Amino acid sequence: MGGLAAAAALRKQGADVTVYEQARQFARIGAGIQIGCNAMHVLRGLGLEPVLRAQTFYPRSWNNRHWQSGEVLFDMVFGAPAEQKYGAPYLLAHRGDLHAALAGAVPDEVIRLDHRLVGLDQTKDGVRLAFAGGETAEADALIGADGVNSIVRSTLFGDSEPSFTGRIAYRTTYPARLLEGFDIGDCTKWWGEDRHIVMYPVKADRSEVYFVTSQPDPDYSPESWSETGDVEVVRAAFEGFHPDVQRVLAACPAVHKRVLVDHDPLPRWVEGRVALLGDACHPMTPYMAQGAAMAIEDAAILSRCLAEVAQPGGARDGIAPALARYQATRHERTARMQLTSRQNSWGKGVTDTDWVYGYNAWTAPLAG
Ligand SMILES: Cc1cc2nc3c(=O)[nH]c(=O)nc-3n(C[C@H](O)[C@H](O)[C@H](O)COP(=O)(O)OP(=O)(O)OC[C@H]3O[C@@H](n4cnc5c(N)ncnc54)[C@H](O)[C@@H]3O)c2cc1C
Repeated sequence: MGGLAAAAALRKQGADVTVYEQARQFARIGAGIQIGCNAMHVLRGLGLEPVLRAQTFYPRSWNNRHWQSGEVLFDMVFGAPAEQKYGAPYLLAHRGDLHAALAGAVPDEVIRLDHRLVGLDQTKDGVRLAFAGGETAEADALIGADGVNSIVRSTLFGDSEPSFTGRIAYRTTYPARLLEGFDIGDCTKWWGEDRHIVMYPVKADRSEVYFVTSQPDPDYSPESWSETGDVEVVRAAFEGFHPDVQRVLAACPAVHKRVLVDHDPLPRWVEGRVALLGDACHPMTPYMAQGAAMAIEDAAILSRCLAEVAQPGGARDGIAPALARYQATRHERTARMQLTSRQNSWGKGVTDTDWVYGYNAWTAPLAG
């Protein structure tokens, strides 16, 4: 997502971009994604607001409730009041719909699927890329938006694998009709003692619903890892939770799972004409629903920093300073997000949300 957002934003500045993606095709995995007002500012600038408003759910709030009693711990109000306050809506999407919208902002011919980067070299005036299968390419600059296990990061800065949190997330989307009329509400996080579950609709008409858990996985080992989850394991893990939770889990046909990882803020993300973006440089736990939002904000700031040099004929020796400025602009905010998210306290009690949702990457000051 960060790579596509960066490509779309850089093209707006006149840059000639190519997106290299290892996957043979884009798959629609069953997962939801919260699109914060801050991410929506950027997506609006990329022309995606109408399509996203049409395809996503517009929640009244993100309600935080006690796992057993259902007592409301903090109702984080969105809807019209947040839109007015922060200048952009808060939307709940199917991840595939957000991804498709971003892919639609970039012409097909600049996306090269089935291209797995295996190596890179900085030359005097650019970067040489090597792909599995032997193909190579040259570029004036490289943006490594290759996720938590970034090969660009390990090539530039050595291995710094994200650490396993000891927890995993089960998640799924499924048709709301399986709930037989039960209303799951707008967006609810049910806070247990050592686990939680978040649930919301992902379509404007509430026809599809999503949930995601975070729970300890003492039996996890990399060898036994599989992406397919067992829905009975999830039901057992949330036994005793409020009846609304039981209802959603009882109706769920299947789940998949993934490990939850975390990383301390990295000191550097840029080396010469190569920069990292999104999870490649600031992976975080999903507890503020801000990982993709940070990648999308990165894209807008990056495009602003590169604006002068991105145009045809722009002075290429300005690339490295522009990338350094991008990192300087983004580092403090993304580090704060990583460290705050890690605490898993966002919304558990009264929470100041302004610094997160009130940020507009198109107008925020750039580092000097
Ligand atoms: C359970 C869960 C829930 C979440 N919920 C939210 C949420 O509600 N809101 C939110 O904002 N964020 C959320 N996030 C975080 C969000 O998913 C990530 O922060 C976001 O996907 C990061 O985007 P990215 O583009 O940096 O990386 P990725 O989405 O990981 O994309 C990296 C891309 O690079 C490709 N790639 C990797 N290596 C190579 C290579 N060598 N060559 C070529 N291509 C390569 C991959 O195939 C992939 O397409 C959640 C995360 C989790 C785990």
